Amino acid sequence: MTTDLTARLADVDARIADAARSAGRDPAEITRIVVTKFHAAPLIADLYELGVRDVGESRQQELSAKRDELSELADLTWHFVGQVQTKKARAVRASADVVHSLDRERLADALHLADPGGAALDVFLQVNLTDDPGRGGAAPDDVEPLATHVAANCPSLRVRGVMAVAPLTAAPAEAFARLAAAADAVRRVIPDATWMSAGMSGDFAEAIAAGATHLRIGTAITGPRPVHG
Ligand SMILES: *Cc1c(COP(=O)(O)O)cnc(C)c1O
Repeated sequence: MTTDLTARLADVDARIADAARSAGRDPAEITRIVVTKFHAAPLIADLYELGVRDVGESRQQELSAKRDELSELADLTWHFVGQVQTKKARAVRASADVVHSLDRERLADALHLADPGGAALDVFLQVNLTDDPGRGGAAPDDVEPLATHVAANCPSLRVRGVMAVAPLTAAPAEAFARLAAAADAVRRVIPDATWMSAGMSGDFAEAIAAGATHLRIGTAITGPRPVHG
């Protein structure tokens, strides 16, 4: 394993701890997910040796293949952070432990019906903080109705909180404040939905200040992603 990987992981973790302390928060309440998309499975094995237990992937086939290849790492938690096509809902449910990108009722229904009597699947409701409806995520005003729908109709899904990617065009702090408002709206429906998935390589300190409980950090830990098809 490379000393670079070890050093980058330690550096990011130190910056997470600093940001948490500055915000008056306990770093132990923050889950650092390493986003390993486009990297080969051995990188995940290296991260595992360094103590990483939460990894994130954005494509279903890639997640399923890596999970099979690394099946001996039984206590890894696999987070799905990418857009989910409804027709892939069954495969995502079969391969992910946590889904960060639930953004519409049809997808909620499909994820639920993929395994209605199975162990509860933890989900985040993704919020679109951009003006582009083509981006992933529900519009902020649609998040509370989505929470209501899932709570009423999808008993095998457990809504844990909200997720967003900060838009490139706005200050992260302003974007994450809007996400925190969406989180409040979800908690009016589901009071124990206390998680917030926010913060990437470039903005995790701002996300921590805004209350993020789950950080999705890729390149700052893994280094540049390989070119992909
Ligand atoms: C790739 C990705 C990340 C990680 O991005 P970095 O800038 O490499 O830290 C986080 N969240 C989502 C949804 C992603 O697709």
